[in-house]
Amino acid sequence: MELKLKFKEQHDLQSNTHQRVFLSLGTNINKRLEFLRSAIEKIHQLAATRIVSVSSIYETEPHGVAGQPDFLNAALEIRTGLCPVCLLFSLQRIENQLGRYRTVPWGPRTIDIDIIYFGALVRNTPLLTIPHPRTTTRKFVLQPLNEIAPDFLPPQADRAISFLCENCPDLHHVVKLSEPVLLVEEQSD
Ligand code: AMP
Repeated sequence: MELKLKFKEQHDLQSNTHQRVFLSLGTNINKRLEFLRSAIEKIHQLAATRIVSVSSIYETEPHGVAGQPDFLNAALEIRTGLCPVCLLFSLQRIENQLGRYRTVPWGPRTIDIDIIYFGALVRNTPLLTIPHPRTTTRKFVLQPLNEIAPDFLPPQADRAISFLCENCPDLHHVVKLSEPVLLVEEQSD
């Protein structure tokens, strides 16, 4: 399986000045690949935001509610000039645009987009917790992340992603489905 996404070149973003931000995407309803593709395209279109890399797509066994379909998961690294809460609201808007609904907590969903790390930021408020809680106990988050940022040292951790991934106690199945998603720059006329 190959996923190619066409993107317009962006000249307006001083991406090197922004923090390394990592997102985790998950979907397990209907056209899972389409939801992933649309979410990635919409993230790329966010103001002052640029996608740096996208992991392969992984098929993963659900946590929580039993009997629901397997998920597709992927990790993204972005650079953004948005503040953390602005980014959260922008991602929630994308979730809503893609018709996200949930019947039960931890149950099936069209698209879920979580902010895993926002550079060295640590924040714990009712609205936003960064690093995202339970990241280090979820292989469906760590394995895609390990593919794109094995050397990243999360805030408050003394080990890099590769170590956290290798030593993650989670036994749920995580199977790599695709090659890394290709970001193909569109040629302007
Ligand atoms: P969920 O249903 O798991 O997507 O969680 C949604 C809720 O988690 C929202 O109310 C967010 O405000 C909150 N939240 C807290 N921290 C984060 C984070 N790092 N990324 C995304 N949502 C978060």
